[in-house]
Amino acid sequence: MTFAATILTLYPEMFPGPLGLSLAGRALGEGKWVCDPVQIRDFATDRHRSVDDTPAGGGAGMVMRADVLARAVDHAVDRQPGVPVLAMTPRGRPLTQARVRDLAAGPGAIILCGRFEGIDERLFEARPIEPVSIGDYILSGGEMAALVLLDACIRLLPGVMGAASSGDEESFESGLLEYPHYTRPAEWEGRTIPEVLRSGDHAKIEAWRTAMAETDTRLRRPDLWERHEGARVQSPSGARQQKKER
Ligand code: SAM
Repeated sequence: MTFAATILTLYPEMFPGPLGLSLAGRALGEGKWVCDPVQIRDFATDRHRSVDDTPAGGGAGMVMRADVLARAVDHAVDRQPGVPVLAMTPRGRPLTQARVRDLAAGPGAIILCGRFEGIDERLFEARPIEPVSIGDYILSGGEMAALVLLDACIRLLPGVMGAASSGDEESFESGLLEYPHYTRPAEWEGRTIPEVLRSGDHAKIEAWRTAMAETDTRLRRPDLWERHEGARVQSPSGARQQKKER
């Protein structure tokens, strides 16, 4: 199955952009995913092709019009019925690896990119659109956020990553950050690779990696750690249970 990404945007030339290179670019060339940017202005009805207007209630900036966006969304949904429609917005639910996995397992995504002050809220009331945030900071437009979301999905598509297992141990897959990595040279600026990684004892290496993943998560991401610990207390099979639910 080919993952079909339709991106509704004022800047179609931004796609595939960096996704035309490296892993995602190769997958695009191989037809593992398709990229279809759609110009939102094509759904405007006035001669200026307006897509925005002043905010109701006053204030700075402009707001993207619900009627124009709805026509663009309806057009995309007609072409790809049943595909999830997402809108990139800092007001959305934070994107997670679990959601990325769900999306990557599906037929694709229709992604609406905001600009200006954002999107008329009535669009979200009138259409089943999932608001998605990529983090607690403000970008100038949804295109970069859409590229992030797509990159996260594409690398999980079958046959895109080299080793079939290379995604399984990564940060967030088990609810923890991943353990730290090292490579040659064995000594650099007086720092050596942890001895255990050179021991050849796979059980010890595994135990060390688990301990490091737990320590780093606790120190760097207390929010993740709390959730991980909560899940472990609730279920005796702990992380394994979480993995199955993914
Ligand atoms: N006024 C909006 C607010 O405070 O929530 C921010 C609008 S931002 C300047 C313009 C567009 O960039 C948004 O409509 C959205 O599409 C995109 N955007 C900005 N930050 C984002 C984020 N963290 N995640 C997803 N999309 C984002």
